[in-house]
Amino acid sequence: MTSEQIAFDQQHIWHPYSSMINPPPAYPVVAAKGVRLELADGRQLIDGMASWWSVIHGYGHPELNAAAHAQIDRMSHVMFGGITHEPAIELARRLVEMTPEGLDKVFIADSGSVAVEVAIKMAIQYWHAKGLPAKHRLLTIRSGYHGDTFGAMSVCDPVGGMHEIFTGVLPQQFFAPRPEIPFGGDWDEADISALERLLAKEHAHIAALILEPIVQGAGGMRFYHPGYLKRARALCDEYQVLLIADEVATGFGRTGKLFACEHAGITPDILCVGKALTGGYMTLAATLTRSDIGETISAGGAGCFMHGPTFMANPLACAVAATSLRLLQEGDWAGNVARIERGLKTGLAPAAELAGVAEVRCLGAIGVVEMKAPVNTVAIQKEFVAEGIWIRPFGKLVYVMPPYVMNNEDLASLTSAMVRVLSRA
Ligand SMILES: *Cc1c(COP(=O)(O)O)cnc(C)c1O
Repeated sequence: MTSEQIAFDQQHIWHPYSSMINPPPAYPVVAAKGVRLELADGRQLIDGMASWWSVIHGYGHPELNAAAHAQIDRMSHVMFGGITHEPAIELARRLVEMTPEGLDKVFIADSGSVAVEVAIKMAIQYWHAKGLPAKHRLLTIRSGYHGDTFGAMSVCDPVGGMHEIFTGVLPQQFFAPRPEIPFGGDWDEADISALERLLAKEHAHIAALILEPIVQGAGGMRFYHPGYLKRARALCDEYQVLLIADEVATGFGRTGKLFACEHAGITPDILCVGKALTGGYMTLAATLTRSDIGETISAGGAGCFMHGPTFMANPLACAVAATSLRLLQEGDWAGNVARIERGLKTGLAPAAELAGVAEVRCLGAIGVVEMKAPVNTVAIQKEFVAEGIWIRPFGKLVYVMPPYVMNNEDLASLTSAMVRVLSRA
């Protein structure tokens, strides 16, 4: 990459949550293979981020590459209105098979945020079709993150959720306090009492409770007690409110279960998946629901579900996703995630002793070091790169979620470099 190209990027291209005044450096990546990113100057970085939870099988996986090549030679895209194709059918078949029992109707969406929009629309259309249009608002828990589009933003944490500026524009939803009892702590009914009071008071106006099961991701990287999820499921049934599980980050094994809902043994009414769905190859997501919900929506005044994007069920993305799910089903993701959890716990333990560190926590293939004060992302990222690792912290959170295929040696290099940099921070 030339310096002219880098300058063009800085002058003309928005990056995620970036500024157009003195934009922070963007590292030029020219290739990616296995668990490594290759920079333009030839340096190799061990990737701790799996490109934001998604690259679970590693970069350039031969079977995913082959699936993409085979599909692009047949057809890259064709509209989904009035047409169907094998990649969509095979993907949906595997999703129905893998997800908790009873989630049998699949809407294939373009991104995690869109999957959340679709889930919200399903819940609202469901109650409308049942003759209860007043049930059109959402209930959620604080510290959540559900995406950057308007419906999704309305259920992100209203303060920490990056969307304060839009408060006046967004639909006003109900917020319960975040769960406080951590994963592995002792369950106490008091943790759910505020949610219960809100449901008791407002259920006539609430279409659905939406939450990230067990792991709150971009809203704080917090791991909460499965007891909360179990009780939330029971309360939704009691108060006739649908439960939407946003597993866009947690889905496909990341927390040690195939879906985080399994930690609590519950089935949501609507499930959103995304991020790791294509093994990180391209954008794709899905929203699944129960047959009776799909049928109720379709029996309503509209006579159909009101959503259908141009690139719905893009065959290229579906073919790669179906192959990624097959790799999961046939491979030992559970053994790998358990192995990575052990490696993260051992490797990050020394960080807990550092002066600047508030807490270290690990669950599945997720390792989080929460600092006492926000880190300088640009400065610390430079140090990580100098140490040969790729980590992108936000606020006080320095966290990794490696590809499941990362071997023990690379994992140890990743965690020890992370601890070295943090000990200087
Ligand atoms: C990332 C994320 C989303 C949004 O997904 P995009 O593909 O970025 O639109 C929604 N929900 C959760 C829990 C996420 O982690």
